[in-house]
Amino acid sequence: MSNQKTIDTHLHLDESVPGGADNAVAELRSQMVDAGVERGVVLHLECQRWPLEEVATAVHAEKSLLLFANVNPMDPEASDKLRYAITELGCGGLKLHPRLQDYQVNHKLTSALVSLAGELGVPVLIDAFPDGDWMLQGHSMLDYALLARACPKTNLIIAHMAGHKVLDAMMLAKRTPNIYFDTSYSLLYYRGSSVPADLVYAMRSMRFKRIFYGSDYPDRGLKETLTESVAVMREHKIGMRNSTQFYTRTHWNSCRGEPARHIRKRLNRRTLRETPARVRAES
Ligand SMILES: [Zn+2]
Repeated sequence: MSNQKTIDTHLHLDESVPGGADNAVAELRSQMVDAGVERGVVLHLECQRWPLEEVATAVHAEKSLLLFANVNPMDPEASDKLRYAITELGCGGLKLHPRLQDYQVNHKLTSALVSLAGELGVPVLIDAFPDGDWMLQGHSMLDYALLARACPKTNLIIAHMAGHKVLDAMMLAKRTPNIYFDTSYSLLYYRGSSVPADLVYAMRSMRFKRIFYGSDYPDRGLKETLTESVAVMREHKIGMRNSTQFYTRTHWNSCRGEPARHIRKRLNRRTLRETPARVRAES
């Protein structure tokens, strides 16, 4: 599998790095090299201090990185901002953070923007970590599934595998083919509880399809996450060969093609609609 790369599909830029976005990208790249992660998907956040244009320039200067733009669906200019991010800045996807940006997953404006992403040929990654604040606001996996079903042409990546609600999410995903998952944060956050076993069970039950590896750097360390995630897989009797494959067999080209300034011109829309990224292994 010489063409298979370790890809971390859930990365942010570290705001504690002083200076411009290019400095934060340089720091990320050095951590990736240290961890043996060859490629990564960077998720822009509107709450960070760098404007999207600056982040896109810095990220796209690195061939190994791809950028998803964060747009708030409640913003009256949301559609224009998403089109601009994809068609002008070469972003490869839409990042939604309903908890941080304070809107409902099941709002009609959310599904309108998610549908638009599908029309533009890019996937959507949505935060789904059920922390206490989010649960107090009525966090429900059903809302995510209904969003995916309302937007069948869009591939919706449920971030953090929905945390401790992973089994609900898995059951809904089995009936909703455009739901995908990333493994970020949860395997480490719930360390010592029964949740990692549920996460591994869900991965197995889905035959490792539609599941992408991610760390949530810098909230969780890049190298630490990779090392500990492989350890969890081994602990649950997913052999080293298979776990290594799992973390290396993400298909970058189907994730979004090569990240570059004019990526859009080389975009294979059909491939993207079918598989924004994919990790496979036999367990
Ligand atoms: Zn994140």
